[in-house]
Amino acid sequence: MKKTVTYVLEPEIALDADRFRQHVSEELALPLASPDWQVRKTRQSVDARGRQVKVNIEAEVFINETPQPQRQYQFEYGNVSTAPAAVIVGAGPAGLFAALRLIELGIKPIVLERGKDVRARRRDLAAINKEHIVNPDSNYCFGEGGAGTYSDGKLYTRSKKRGDIRRILEILVNHGAVEDILVDAHPHIGTNKLPYVVAALRDQILASGGEVRFDAKVTDFIIEQGQMKGVVTSDGQEHTGLGVILATGHSARDIFELCQKRDVFMEAKAFAMGVRIEHPQALIDQLQYHRPDRGILPAAAYSLVAQTKYKGVDRGVFSFCMCPGGFIVPAATAPGELVVNGMSPSRRDSYFANSGMVVAVNEPDWKKYAKYGAMAGLHYQQEVEQKACQAANYTQKAPTQRVQDFMRGKVSSELNETSYQPGLLSLDLSGILPETIAEPLKLGLQEFGKRMKGYTSNEGQLIGIESRTSSPVRIPRDKESYEHVEIRRLYPCGEGAGYAGGIVSAAVDGERCAEALAGQYRR
Ligand SMILES: Cc1cc2nc3c(=O)[nH]c(=O)nc-3n(C[C@H](O)[C@H](O)[C@H](O)COP(=O)(O)OP(=O)(O)OC[C@H]3O[C@@H](n4cnc5c(N)ncnc54)[C@H](O)[C@@H]3O)c2cc1C
Repeated sequence: MKKTVTYVLEPEIALDADRFRQHVSEELALPLASPDWQVRKTRQSVDARGRQVKVNIEAEVFINETPQPQRQYQFEYGNVSTAPAAVIVGAGPAGLFAALRLIELGIKPIVLERGKDVRARRRDLAAINKEHIVNPDSNYCFGEGGAGTYSDGKLYTRSKKRGDIRRILEILVNHGAVEDILVDAHPHIGTNKLPYVVAALRDQILASGGEVRFDAKVTDFIIEQGQMKGVVTSDGQEHTGLGVILATGHSARDIFELCQKRDVFMEAKAFAMGVRIEHPQALIDQLQYHRPDRGILPAAAYSLVAQTKYKGVDRGVFSFCMCPGGFIVPAATAPGELVVNGMSPSRRDSYFANSGMVVAVNEPDWKKYAKYGAMAGLHYQQEVEQKACQAANYTQKAPTQRVQDFMRGKVSSELNETSYQPGLLSLDLSGILPETIAEPLKLGLQEFGKRMKGYTSNEGQLIGIESRTSSPVRIPRDKESYEHVEIRRLYPCGEGAGYAGGIVSAAVDGERCAEALAGQYRR
């Protein structure tokens, strides 16, 4: 017999396997030590909204019955080595999941990635952190697994396509992620585990007869009579196939330039920009959990959003990609730029909490750059990143101001400890950020300080610049066919094309593009 139960429990019971089993045994009058029943959680979420933190649990209890498998999907990866091929540009989540889906649908994926495999990539990350050298083909955004590899690996998305999301999570579990991600309401993998999962995804593609090529930077498109025939890599090699899935991420500025040069229609797109805010994790735990220490609870997260009005213009200010127990990392993709982002290990056990704290950027903001057409927002974004790098004497040291100091317009006389390895420089962020970002940011912070007392104290500091929140460009596609609006057999895909905003949504989009391509062109 199978019973489904739901409980709202105090964390010390919910999160301790033995005490949870004891609770179920008492509730259902089952003998604690009996091997004849098993309990398995199917959903777990921490609710920190009230004074007392609670944990909501859904679970299945199997009594005199073997538990059914936790995973719901079957995946069949046949051998596609002699099947018709399709080209995928970019080995981020969108590209890798597109490749796996093509294999399921009987098409051989040829994945072209400008960066290196996950292991070799590490050396270039060390070079940014320690020597301030940015390799334009191998960094926190470029390389196997894309921007998602050295990240927090948060797997939640605002997308409502539940079935699709479950598929993605199960594929990740099948390739080494822990089963807990199928249960947690806010799952995450962690930067220490992601490289192994990414390598396993690649091994699956190779074992099925697909190709994954590193150091394969796409530098031109082969477009004939309104159809995308293939691409050219920097070594001059041509790669052709049934279609091209273009999944190059939000930082591939040379791909946007190539699109412009080859008359591939694009549009400027709204995005957001600001800073990272870093606090001691213990402070965030106290603010969120209302207790002196978090005990058994996971490092606390938060999500903040406010509407501000500055000089008559309404602007959203919001936290973005919060990394509990994490690190701030240098995420520039070219020398002469300064960009920060955040990541966390699986245990989220660093001393620090960090989050993007960003302001919406819309069309009127990039008017000055109108001559760049669809790339106007991108140039606005790039100019701020370059200004920050210049202020840091062309190092990767990040311009930083303590929160109260920023709100009062005062350069910080001293800075706090940080997780950001390249180091900090005390500077006035209002001198680097455009006024239309700096001033709404102050208004947003005022509001957040009222909601979370202590959040805007000088225990927190603002570290700049967080500028790559989403793509500043959209490569539009047809709603039904997923093909580019003007060029057939071209599938703009994932975050760079403006169709995803995170690991899971990029992976879902990769699958959708693969299905559209196979549906249209597989003979
Ligand atoms: C530090 C950091 C932390 C993050 N944390 C999270 C998180 O916790 N959760 C979350 O959901 N999202 C997170 N994100 C965002 C997430 O990583 C992206 O939304 C996601 O990776 C987008 O997937 P994608 O496949 O569309 O593009 P990307 O992951 O950007 O992949 C694009 C790939 O294309 C390659 N490429 C680019 N140009 C070319 C070319 N010319 N030729 C060949 N290859 C090319 C790049 O090298 C890259 O590997 C984080 C991002 C960063 C940088």
